[in-house]
Amino acid sequence: MSSAVPADAPRTATAAAPGWLDRAYATAFRSTLWPLMNRATGRTVHQVIPFLERSQWWSRDELHAYQLAKLQRLIRHVYDAVPFYAREMRSRDLHPDDFQSLDTLDRMPVITKAQLKAAPEDFLARGASLDRLVAGTTSGSTGQPTKFYRSRAQDSWHWALKYRMWGMAGYRLGLPYANLYNMKRAGLRKRVQDFVLRNHDFYVFGTELQQELLRRVLDRLRRPNIHFLAGCTSTLRILADLHAAEGDAAPLGLRAVLSTGSLLTPAERRHIESALGAPLWDHYGLGGEGAHVAAECEMKRGYHINVENMIIAPAEPECVDTDEPARIHVTVLDDFDWPLIRYDSGDAAVFASRTCPCGRGLPLLERIDGRVSETLTLPSGNRVNVHYFSVLFGRQPEVNQYQVEQRSPHDLVVRIVWKSTPPADGKSQLAAALQKTGGADLRVTFEDVDHIPLGRSGKHRYVIALPASRTPVNSVD
Ligand SMILES: [Zn+2]
Repeated sequence: MSSAVPADAPRTATAAAPGWLDRAYATAFRSTLWPLMNRATGRTVHQVIPFLERSQWWSRDELHAYQLAKLQRLIRHVYDAVPFYAREMRSRDLHPDDFQSLDTLDRMPVITKAQLKAAPEDFLARGASLDRLVAGTTSGSTGQPTKFYRSRAQDSWHWALKYRMWGMAGYRLGLPYANLYNMKRAGLRKRVQDFVLRNHDFYVFGTELQQELLRRVLDRLRRPNIHFLAGCTSTLRILADLHAAEGDAAPLGLRAVLSTGSLLTPAERRHIESALGAPLWDHYGLGGEGAHVAAECEMKRGYHINVENMIIAPAEPECVDTDEPARIHVTVLDDFDWPLIRYDSGDAAVFASRTCPCGRGLPLLERIDGRVSETLTLPSGNRVNVHYFSVLFGRQPEVNQYQVEQRSPHDLVVRIVWKSTPPADGKSQLAAALQKTGGADLRVTFEDVDHIPLGRSGKHRYVIALPASRTPVNSVD
């Protein structure tokens, strides 16, 4: 089932380095304009970035001590000022003085999206107002959208972490970049922000991507000064397909592709890197919740967790250092207005305790497994997710793209976009492998398709699970 990213040596970008004008702007921007903008909007990103650039090299012990000090301060605050936590802690006979180690977090309740949605004011600190917080919305790909809030302090950490993560790919604040958004960035403030940040912003809407618009993106990327491209993995893949289909089109001058937002399989990484001609750095975050969780460094041997701003704990600690994914619980350490403590993200990842050869003290996630709700329970009782299918379909180079939908506990529909004519026994081999894992009574139906539409959130869905009410009884979700 393992499909970890191959631990190759870091790829070297072949694009030219940024010119002196771009470098001069970046230096001047960071030292003057950026601090002014931050002060005007009540943010401290310009102070957090240099801190994060240092703290990533701290030892594990130093990072741990820093997290504990922050957690103790947060817990003391919520005990006094946040109705939900004040109530829960007292009912559990839990006092701030009990928090002498990070493990004490296990005694706090796990909070869910449903609870936050039902009573957001219950999580609001005394004196704060939801109207004055930064709001975000989860995509709702697994149900109804939920609104999340964050303080300006947390928003500053959020931005600063983004630039640290991009920095691992060679990006420096103030250098021009292109960004493929799934949501429209409207309003004068955002336009000014994009102008000074040199963000060449392309709105590529979710469900049906416009080929014309993507051609314009490619044209823009062929101009000499844009070396960085960020976007949702699914959108990047479509752009890569388009560029590859153009055959002898002029190469892009990219130094790095920064992907986020949906699962990246090893095959997809190879495809995007080869088509766009630049190494890819993957990032994992909870977009709507406003948490940048983890990022690949130049070694590409797992995802470094942004522990200065959050505690990422496995719901099943026994899974650490195994190949088994654990559900991710998130505690955000810098939000005192709408604190998130032991929030059940609904995502799963494989946790590792090893260190990274890059020397950063930031701990690692081995790989991201995505939504827990996109795990299928098969009649045999085996549970499989996208990583299983990525290995399975990776054995057949003729497969271009796939989607597996579980229609009932015993029925799988497998949709395939073929790159070239499959071997005569291609489908029967796939069906036999699926039945070996899923049980002899698993029925597999194949559908050959030209195109697989993206989900509502603009992401490709590799796996569509049964609604929870129809999930077999041996499921633990
Ligand atoms: Zn590293």
